[in-house]
Amino acid sequence: MADSFDVIVIGGGPAGYPAAIRAGQNGLSVACIDEWKNHDGSAAFGGTCLNAGCIPSKALLESTELYHRAREEFAVHGIQVPGVSMDVATMQKRKSGIVKKMTDGVMALLKGAGVTPLQGHGRLLPDRKVEFKSHQGEVRTLSAKHVVLASGSTPIELKSAPIDGRRIIDSWGALELTAVPKRLGVIGAGVIGLELGSVWRRLGSEVVVLEALDTFLAIADQQLAKEAAKHFKKLGMDIRTGAKVTGAAVKGDAVKVSYTDAKGEQSLEVDTLVVAVGRRPFTAGLLAEGTGVQLDARGFITVDDKCRTGVEGVWAIGDCVRGPMLAHKGKEEGVMVADLIAGHYGEVNYRIEPSVIYTAPEIAWVGETEEQVKASGRPYKVGVFPFMASGRARAMESTQGFAKLIADKASDEILGVHIIGPMAGELIAEAVLAMEYTASAEDLQRTIHAHPTLSEALHEAALAADKRAIDNINR
Ligand SMILES: Cc1cc2nc3c(=O)[nH]c(=O)nc-3n(C[C@H](O)[C@H](O)[C@H](O)COP(=O)(O)OP(=O)(O)OC[C@H]3O[C@@H](n4cnc5c(N)ncnc54)[C@H](O)[C@@H]3O)c2cc1C
Repeated sequence: MADSFDVIVIGGGPAGYPAAIRAGQNGLSVACIDEWKNHDGSAAFGGTCLNAGCIPSKALLESTELYHRAREEFAVHGIQVPGVSMDVATMQKRKSGIVKKMTDGVMALLKGAGVTPLQGHGRLLPDRKVEFKSHQGEVRTLSAKHVVLASGSTPIELKSAPIDGRRIIDSWGALELTAVPKRLGVIGAGVIGLELGSVWRRLGSEVVVLEALDTFLAIADQQLAKEAAKHFKKLGMDIRTGAKVTGAAVKGDAVKVSYTDAKGEQSLEVDTLVVAVGRRPFTAGLLAEGTGVQLDARGFITVDDKCRTGVEGVWAIGDCVRGPMLAHKGKEEGVMVADLIAGHYGEVNYRIEPSVIYTAPEIAWVGETEEQVKASGRPYKVGVFPFMASGRARAMESTQGFAKLIADKASDEILGVHIIGPMAGELIAEAVLAMEYTASAEDLQRTIHAHPTLSEALHEAALAADKRAIDNINR
């Protein structure tokens, strides 16, 4: 194997592996180093997303949603499923199978693009040299014209609730539970906490979510957040905002959690506690002395809008740099950097990054919230269309939620789209594309949407912004 490459990527998650593949497609010689090891000791490409994040969580959300619907919603269709039950071991086996196929797939994709996959630890040395230590212990010094750092992130731990891997677990642990806890506590009502809470609630856990902030889903449009809170309550999730955890200790088979809220000191006893309070950049062991790569006060690698670190030929992408910790954001950065390295055009439009919460109903948005637009002082108009008025949603028996579109009052440019409802995560793609092309509300109004589809909700929301909705009364 060569010791010298055009590009070495350190990290094979959804930021690193696309960077390596695109660099290979661009005709460059590339190595991609990744050190991920699963709980069974197996090494795998794909990073957090494929091994312990996006993919396993969506597999479990799908299984548990089907189970929940079979129990609670099939009867209305006339489908009788007496004695429906969930075999957690089979559900987990299916999830692990999906993860294995996807991570093996990444290895095949890397090889297919001519990338040299290297499993083990990578450390940036000065002058674009990289020390590679394989999982077998072999150490080599490689060199490259360009090094891309894509080392990702790791869960934030709480001093007050130390992970023991058994009763107090992180998000990865919550994806690997082999039995349904009777009482599940979740610290953090962010995207990960809500998704994992939903999984186990649907299987029967009594779920209490403790959120330190007073506002529920503060990152989302508040009309959407209020609607979401209603549905989580209906599912039986007990979400307590303004609840700051002060301690958690394992006592026998239980975890005693103490927290403070507006009423003072509170306590809670659960069987399993999931700490899901966010993630922090992971750069441990990544940078040798003298590389010149800078970290900011929160530990993110400092980069500009093109992901340059300021050290010639050294780039950084994905969760280890500023911006939302999302797989698709990292992927676009990886592709941009690989194209820039090859002398091609490359750009990421950070203004238009979709966010999705894969609960039921799904929650998705892109662009500015109504609160942000209002605060900017820009005159705006809003169109809202409830799924209750959608023929397709009625046929699917999924009428919760709405699509909301915010547009500039004068120019008609779409500023934000917020959807809570069936398949919101898929529907948002139309809004992303529209905004990427600086579409107006009228552009969407004049675009033919197939009938009956869920996508008509966005069409009607655009019409509603001008009080011209057809399938809903304009107010
Ligand atoms: C439960 C959960 C659910 C999620 N769901 C979603 C979702 O639905 N959609 C979404 O967009 N995002 C989701 N995320 C976030 C998503 O997983 C991350 O944003 C994404 O994985 C970041 O990609 P990355 O490549 O930057 O980092 P990572 O995926 O963390 O990959 C970094 C890789 O680099 C390796 N590495 C680190 N340092 C070194 C080194 N020095 N040498 C060699 N290898 C190294 C790591 O082992 C890892 O394999 C979820 C996260 C979690 C935890």
